[in-house]
Amino acid sequence: SHRIMLGPLVAAIDQGTSSTRFLVFNSKTAELLSHHQVEIKQSFPKEGWVEEDPKEILQSVYECMERTCEKLTQLNIDISNIKAIGVTNQRETTLVWDKETGEPLYNAIVWLDLRTQSTVENLINKTPGRNKNHLKHKTGLPISTYFSAVKLRWLMDNVKEVHEAVVSHRAMFGTVDSWLIWCLTGGKSGGVHCTDVTNASRTMLFNIHTMDWDAELWALSGIPISGCLGDQSAALVGQMCFQDGQAKNTYGTGCFLLRNTGAKPVMSEHGLLTTVAYKLGRDKPACYALEGSVAIAGAVVRWLQDNLGIIGSSEELEKLAASVGTSYGCYFVPAFSGLYAPYWEPSARGIICGLTQFTNKRHLAFAALEAVCFQTREILDAMNQDSGIPLTQLQVDGGMTSNKLLMQLQADILCIPVVKPSMPETTALGAAMAAGAAEGVSVWSLNPDDLSEVTSEKFEPQINPEESEFRYARWKRAVQKSMNWET
Ligand code: ADP
Repeated sequence: SHRIMLGPLVAAIDQGTSSTRFLVFNSKTAELLSHHQVEIKQSFPKEGWVEEDPKEILQSVYECMERTCEKLTQLNIDISNIKAIGVTNQRETTLVWDKETGEPLYNAIVWLDLRTQSTVENLINKTPGRNKNHLKHKTGLPISTYFSAVKLRWLMDNVKEVHEAVVSHRAMFGTVDSWLIWCLTGGKSGGVHCTDVTNASRTMLFNIHTMDWDAELWALSGIPISGCLGDQSAALVGQMCFQDGQAKNTYGTGCFLLRNTGAKPVMSEHGLLTTVAYKLGRDKPACYALEGSVAIAGAVVRWLQDNLGIIGSSEELEKLAASVGTSYGCYFVPAFSGLYAPYWEPSARGIICGLTQFTNKRHLAFAALEAVCFQTREILDAMNQDSGIPLTQLQVDGGMTSNKLLMQLQADILCIPVVKPSMPETTALGAAMAAGAAEGVSVWSLNPDDLSEVTSEKFEPQINPEESEFRYARWKRAVQKSMNWET
């Protein structure tokens, strides 16, 4: 069989909250040649707890790599052309494993998990003036259940195996990137224990001003893992937001709007995080971003499916909501894990209000989609206030953006156009670009001259701004009702 000649290929492992993917791109065109995706199970052992199995995560990576390579071979594409692999991952999710046995010592505690709520309250109580922003000048983050440090604290205090391994110096701690890279580079027989600055900046253990990071390049079956970026940073790179002021919003399990602020870490006055956006090379400067994190976006779709059973698949949601085209005054604040930006209120809980005898599951479906859009509006408003320069359009990506109704609603509620690239795997592309760059394989999209060729879909606002403001004001009232639920 004859083999198709392509330029160098670059690949990415994209380990997200709800699934794992392996993707291979042509570096000359940034075209996605092949990929494979495997869903990841989440378990909810207690109220507020969210866990995943570290071994299942690892296994899913192997499976995706194998199946993608098979698909490439079927396409007559020579897999030895893959020159670099980038890793991008769900951030903050915390693991501890035993370096001698290679075994995880507990499930991965997922970023959404709320078990550390009392730890967080105790920490805040110990700060002068009970200030949740006490560490912000160093970390860019409020003290919150969201970040890895408190999850690690919980593991050390509550899991005997973890405690013992810490005492006997066998414990290894890491986010998902660290776990995967350690396993893929040899595990207990000499795996590399590392992370990158974007993931490190989400641990609440990392000083984002003084950071000093040596990204080492390590080999995997001859193909080096040359790049590592937290998923939201990778999406920023994949969307080519390299200029100060450029922004993207990713709709996955949660929703994350990041705006590049250049070489300067900007501290938010409006409830946003300051995070490390990327650092593409040992001698390159770090770039920072302001980030608005929304805990629950696609997760509300899973909830409607798994907990309420009103849809059989995420695709059905769009049809159900579109069949009414309005929430009929119903507002749904899915504060399942408290509220993240701009409120940072761990005691908030979900609320559905404005119900009448007339309300049905179609309105609820519509309200769930609107909730994602309203939460994004709150972030965008905060972002515009912090920077003083309003965004004139919003670049989007992530699994939920296949929902056209959601995209149209988002444009309506923001009153600015929403722009979606035709190649939706921007997170993986960003990781592959970073890895390729480290190996001297420049990926097509890194060249700004090529940008005019990027094809995209644009959603223009279709309702009048007064209507939009009215609904947004109602949403904000619903949010107020969701807060301080337990106190
Ligand atoms: P993550 O990176 O967090 O794993 P993805 O970007 O893969 O997330 O997106 C998956 C999420 O998108 C899931 O929560 C799923 O419910 C949601 N989703 C996927 N397709 C649709 C759709 N057509 N309508 C609404 N939500 C969707």
